[in-house]
Amino acid sequence: MTEAATVTGCLTKMAVEPGSPARYTLRAGEARVDLNARLGHPLRLTWTGAIACTQCGRATRKSFGQGHCYPCFKKLAQCDTCIMKPELCHFFQGTCREPEWGERHCFQPHVVYLANASGLKVGITRLTQVPTRWLDQGAVQALPILEVDSRQQSGFVEVLFKDEVSDRTNWRAMLKGETRELDLAGERDRLLERLAPGLAELRQRFGDGAIRVLDEAPRAFDYPVLEYPRKVVSHNFDKSPEVTGTLLGIKGQYLILDSGVINLRKFTGYEVAVEA
Ligand SMILES: [Zn+2]
Repeated sequence: MTEAATVTGCLTKMAVEPGSPARYTLRAGEARVDLNARLGHPLRLTWTGAIACTQCGRATRKSFGQGHCYPCFKKLAQCDTCIMKPELCHFFQGTCREPEWGERHCFQPHVVYLANASGLKVGITRLTQVPTRWLDQGAVQALPILEVDSRQQSGFVEVLFKDEVSDRTNWRAMLKGETRELDLAGERDRLLERLAPGLAELRQRFGDGAIRVLDEAPRAFDYPVLEYPRKVVSHNFDKSPEVTGTLLGIKGQYLILDSGVINLRKFTGYEVAVEA
């Protein structure tokens, strides 16, 4: 058993590696805490009241867009609406907030995937974010189904799929661990057939080779959870700066404590003392 120690720093999203179960590392400034090793042990997180912008480091009274000060939130391409809704990409109108960043991040191969965190959902991600993206969502299954050349194209494909499949995760259901196993390959075949006319239209627009069907095997993920909550109660540093309890699990970007759950990603940039 490790001795309890306190470290203080600004939170960034937890690092996660796939495995049986996935391995989570809490990151607070320079400090790292191996969370899997803390399962079943007391954990205390105390917000000092400070928030530092993850982009420029300036102090901010409020966090915008998961860890930014207001000027960065208004200025950065990564905080623009088109990141959440890539079909609204306005690069070609010459109005991208940071064209060079856009070229590096948006004009890259993206995958359209099916995942199961709380039921069937569709999502998109850069090829380089696989499988981290799925672990961050708490998905127990995932299957990449299409590859496209840009973020905008992935947005158009996702819009097409949204007529048939949700693009949301019900985080409460995800945290209760009530997800039943799905036949993702079967769902893929069904959806590709049903959406074939829409996909053909997009290929006509972007070129025959633009939207490629992938032939991959479904992936399964396993999380370090001793016990799922029956009722999901959330902690929130803004309402109560001290979060304490026994660590019962980690799933997605959530800590599951016997006293409630906390979405650490939501508090990116918050300076927190971690006692573990
Ligand atoms: Zn800033």
